[in-house]
Amino acid sequence: MANLTEAEIKAVVSQVLNNLQTGSAPDWDSTHYGPRKFAGIYADMNDAIAAAEIGYRAVRAMSVEQREAIITEIRRLTRAEAPIMAKLGVEETGMGRVDHKTAKHNLVADKTPGTEDIVSNAKTGDSGLTLIEMAPFGVVGSITPSTNPSETVICNSIGMIAAGNGVVFNPHPNAIAVSNYAVDLVNRASKAAGGPDVLVCSMVKPTLESAAVMQSHPAVRLLVCTGGPGVVRAVLSSGKKAIGAGAGNPPVIVDDTADIAKAGKDIIDGCTFDNNLPCIAEKEVFAFRNIADELISAMQRNGAYLIDSAQAAELAKIVLVEKTDKNGKTRKIINRDCVGRDASVLLAKIGVQVSSDIRCIICETDFNHEFVQEELMMPILPIVRVDNIDQAIEMAVKAEHGNRHTAHMHSKNIDHLSRFAKAVETTIFVKNAPSYAGIGFGGEGHTTFTIAGPTGEGITSARSFTRQRRCVMADSFRII
Ligand code: NAD
Repeated sequence: MANLTEAEIKAVVSQVLNNLQTGSAPDWDSTHYGPRKFAGIYADMNDAIAAAEIGYRAVRAMSVEQREAIITEIRRLTRAEAPIMAKLGVEETGMGRVDHKTAKHNLVADKTPGTEDIVSNAKTGDSGLTLIEMAPFGVVGSITPSTNPSETVICNSIGMIAAGNGVVFNPHPNAIAVSNYAVDLVNRASKAAGGPDVLVCSMVKPTLESAAVMQSHPAVRLLVCTGGPGVVRAVLSSGKKAIGAGAGNPPVIVDDTADIAKAGKDIIDGCTFDNNLPCIAEKEVFAFRNIADELISAMQRNGAYLIDSAQAAELAKIVLVEKTDKNGKTRKIINRDCVGRDASVLLAKIGVQVSSDIRCIICETDFNHEFVQEELMMPILPIVRVDNIDQAIEMAVKAEHGNRHTAHMHSKNIDHLSRFAKAVETTIFVKNAPSYAGIGFGGEGHTTFTIAGPTGEGITSARSFTRQRRCVMADSFRII
């Protein structure tokens, strides 16, 4: 399949955004695909849910083999169209990097578990046979972020369909075109593999109001929310079963037993992946004082640009802005225009011009610096010098803010590694590797873009979107 040109990508985004204003479903008219509509996109959340219910009934009627055939086709289309979605995502959101977004889509295609993740259990004994099966919930309402928009739609679709559910999405308002492109991709895969034309659904113009309709609609049996603390709080107070995949602020500890050259490279590779958008990406470093200079040099050899404290203060005024809430209380929030931007773009804002080889901004700060405390989601990495492992762990645990999301460590001291892992209690703990090893990219294990720390499902997969059902046959059906 031919990739879209820059001009065609721009045309799709502007067409989708234009259609949003008129309220009509986004038409697609490209020379590469022929004129067609995105399938499964509705102007009203109630209509989207009704269509998702029909999709659910169709999935329920399918054999596992049929579901798997649709998933195989989703994987194939995702690989084929990964560069399109990557370009569309960067064009629409202004965030991230095309090469890394392409890699993220390929990761989803390759390492998201399908129906093999659903396993039944049987218990036999003097009283007969009990069968425990993992059943679908029904229609799942999924709220998705702007940071990994189409990746999350496709990853969640694979898992939710594998589990036998219908799905309705309320994507992030800043990433509608690319999210709905992914919804359409899933529906095209369904049709091509003999499933219904519309299997998963979404909104022409998702809003907080449409999310509220989703949360209270009786047909939606499970809410899966991938985003910041606000939205996780909202779904957890909905009164429905909810899976919350919330914010992180992953700390990294580097002690003096680590391979410092490798640690410097790994940290910069992880921190700059998709310009720091993944919630698992390295956000602040606690480095032993006696290796900090060596670590900073290793980072500089790998595309990091060191700024001084005055420049860091200047940059902080740009990337964090004051916001007054409805109670008149003022607090600092991240400047959305800086999230996921290239390091060179951020440096230019403080008058520093660098080549495109520079992919990360590093600076030495103290523990209380905003760069340490705030989840910036930008390729800006503060480094705090620490005296020993006790201080490193104490600070890193505080900087993680109890999110229980992700933490990293570079060390060969198994006591240090074990102590930090125990103390920080995160869902993901990566040792001696870039952060993305924690989601199966260069590390063992399946992938997900919905990491559910707050509600405990962890690295979600098809089985996370199921409910247990038990069937008991008393006194019979044993074969021994
Ligand atoms: P965001 O919180 O701005 O938005 C996430 C989604 O929630 C969007 O669809 C948004 O429209 C919706 N939303 C926001 N407030 C809502 C409310 N009160 N009710 C209903 N819907 C609401 O997130 P973002 O900026 O797109 O993503 C970044 C954040 O998400 C970061 O904090 C990041 O760590 C987190 N994140 C977590 C995971 C994970 O797997 N744990 C994955 C990706 C992103």
